[in-house]
Amino acid sequence: MLSRRVEHFVESVIRDMTRLSLKHDAVNLAQGFPDFPAPDELKRAAASAIMEDYNQYSITWGAKDLREEISRKAREYNGIEADPESEVTVTCGSTEAMMASMLALINEGDEAVIFEPFYENYGPDAAVSGAVPRFVPLGEDNSIDEEALTAAFNKKTRVLILNTPNNPCGKVFTRDEMKLISDLCVDFDVVAVTDEIYEHIIYDKKRHVSIGSLDNMRDRTITISGFSKTYSVTGWRIGYALAEKNLTSAIRKVHDFLTVGAPAPLQHACVTALRFPGSYYTELVKMYDGKRKLLYDALIKAGFKCKMPEGAYYILADIPQGVKMDDMAFAKYLVREIGVAAVPGSSFYRSEAGKHKLRFTFSKKDETLQEAAIRLEKLEI
Ligand code: GLN
Repeated sequence: MLSRRVEHFVESVIRDMTRLSLKHDAVNLAQGFPDFPAPDELKRAAASAIMEDYNQYSITWGAKDLREEISRKAREYNGIEADPESEVTVTCGSTEAMMASMLALINEGDEAVIFEPFYENYGPDAAVSGAVPRFVPLGEDNSIDEEALTAAFNKKTRVLILNTPNNPCGKVFTRDEMKLISDLCVDFDVVAVTDEIYEHIIYDKKRHVSIGSLDNMRDRTITISGFSKTYSVTGWRIGYALAEKNLTSAIRKVHDFLTVGAPAPLQHACVTALRFPGSYYTELVKMYDGKRKLLYDALIKAGFKCKMPEGAYYILADIPQGVKMDDMAFAKYLVREIGVAAVPGSSFYRSEAGKHKLRFTFSKKDETLQEAAIRLEKLEI
């Protein structure tokens, strides 16, 4: 009765953990969304947009003023030239941008190269679009194994998904690594589909590089980002895809019939977001840097082994050695008995490696993180 397409993936474990967290009244460090308010100026912009009657469909591929601002931002921040009329598509979050891109590119049986660990959506993105995923594990130190990456490419490879900064491990891909990836994309005529949603959340003065800004990559990259993480508005569902115009018209067709368009008043408010001064982004990084240290210290104290992430707002931690449960059982134990929700590592791995890990987010108020720290101290290993 059901399609084979939906047999190949399960519901989001991340969102399932949020439901479990609510049930047990736990501190939710599972789903990556802020529990603090969005900037006042943005909230006012959204409220005014509704009062000013921006309440009907916007143009399917995005309100003109927003596409123009996105195009400017792409030039200035990402080093990518994208014509607002023909190369920018506003979507319902970067989640839709990713799915629409895959549906626009993939024929049944085409292959998608995906680094592991990966954000859980990419599995279902591949399953729904008909792509066969080829996972390339990153090393213990998150480095790329050049041989393994090269071996993953072949005549059937259609796309490579590149998520930088990476959710869940926090890796920020360097320009040299991108050069290696882009050479392979050119050699095998592959499109890079990126997920750069954490592009502004990067620590220790590391720099974000967009692969679409590299030589030879402009016309073979779909650059995806959005407003959720940078402006703490994950519920608004506003994202976008930048791509050369033939790719864009394919994405727009899928987008049109999936959603018609992203919420019009919120698109209008996002213009305000893109006009924030540079200090907004410096403050954002400063805030998350403090939270990163809070969570890191709490996890180390509780017996987890982990590294400071280079970007994004998650810590992927090794389950303490003394624990005899796998990731799923331990995550359930933590939420029920300790009152802290995390995501089981296996959501981010096809291999067994995830079974020894949990992902915690620090996109929470300091008080929330402090409360989690107190609860984690009760962990007896
Ligand atoms: N990107 C966030 C995370 O990884 C939210 C996931 C979701 O619910 N879409 O936790």
